[in-house]
Amino acid sequence: ESKSKQRGGLSGFEREMDGRYIEQQKLKSDLRDAIAAKGLSVAYQPMFKADGSRIECAEALARWVHPEKGAIPPDVFIRLAEEMGVISDITRFILMKACTDCMTWPEHIAVSVNLSARDLRDADILAVVAEALQASKLEASRLHLEITESCLIDEPAAVRAILAELRARGITIAIDDFGTGFSSLSYLDTLPLDIVKIDRSFLRNIVEDGRRLKLLRGTVNLARELGLKIVTEGVETTEQLALLNKYRATDLIQGYVFSPPVPSQNIALLQQAIGRRAVQRRRNKV
Ligand code: C2E
Ligand code: MG
Ligand code: MG
Ligand code: MG
Repeated sequence: ESKSKQRGGLSGFEREMDGRYIEQQKLKSDLRDAIAAKGLSVAYQPMFKADGSRIECAEALARWVHPEKGAIPPDVFIRLAEEMGVISDITRFILMKACTDCMTWPEHIAVSVNLSARDLRDADILAVVAEALQASKLEASRLHLEITESCLIDEPAAVRAILAELRARGITIAIDDFGTGFSSLSYLDTLPLDIVKIDRSFLRNIVEDGRRLKLLRGTVNLARELGLKIVTEGVETTEQLALLNKYRATDLIQGYVFSPPVPSQNIALLQQAIGRRAVQRRRNKV
């Protein structure tokens, strides 16, 4: 330790901080390159009707495979992009790709795109969305946008106006990760919303703990009373699935129990496979 201090004038801690800072800068510059070279891709995670009989929507999830480091989680690079002020470039790219890909799916399947808080701070988002719809010729009714509670902290009035305008154009608005953050239930009443995506943290212990289940059912009932549709995220086990269905506690299911995020081409194939199974079941009955 003292030796290294003499050498570089830096303590181990300082050197480590320095190393991390350099690594971070490198990652940022690589991300900038990836955006410029259209090096990001999109995976889609379907949302199924609770009985598994049909895909209703698929969520676009950004993917970045770094040439040396491999896949970087979106939680990491989306935050970097926000810090760098380039998130709007990613949003624009994902929106365009998502609308274009959705056009290749069966017509009843919608596509859902995540917006970051930064996107909603800028009224430009209205033009960006309009451009993606126009270029892809996708109907507005097939586009969903997901916002999180963190989008609402800054300028609630301005954000509300943008959401209202998007909705007036026929786009569906979902609140994502509901139940994390500071989740005020009154948002559900006052915001222009269509869908509540119940965060997977709500599912923790619902099979074992009756009180957890009550919390989930109460939240869902309230949202429904307000006319909102329910998507439950992160459903992993058949026990969770059975419980949600037993209490009719969700409209749609998104989670590993039905499907992980997949490439765009798999969405139509998955829907086909489900359709065939349904036909077979009907045949077996007669
Ligand atoms: P999110 O929007 O809540 O997306 C759901 C995340 O949960 C996805 O992680 C998905 O792969 C994961 N997941 C789905 N089913 C299960 C399950 O059954 N169990 C578990 N444990 N996880 C499940 P992913 O793809 O790593 O994305 C993480 C987050 O990154 C997203 O959370 C979203 O907030 C953000 N993100 C991803 N793509 C974009 C984007 O294009 N724009 C913006 N602004 N954010 C994005
Ligand atoms: Mg989402
Ligand atoms: Mg989510
Ligand atoms: Mg979530």
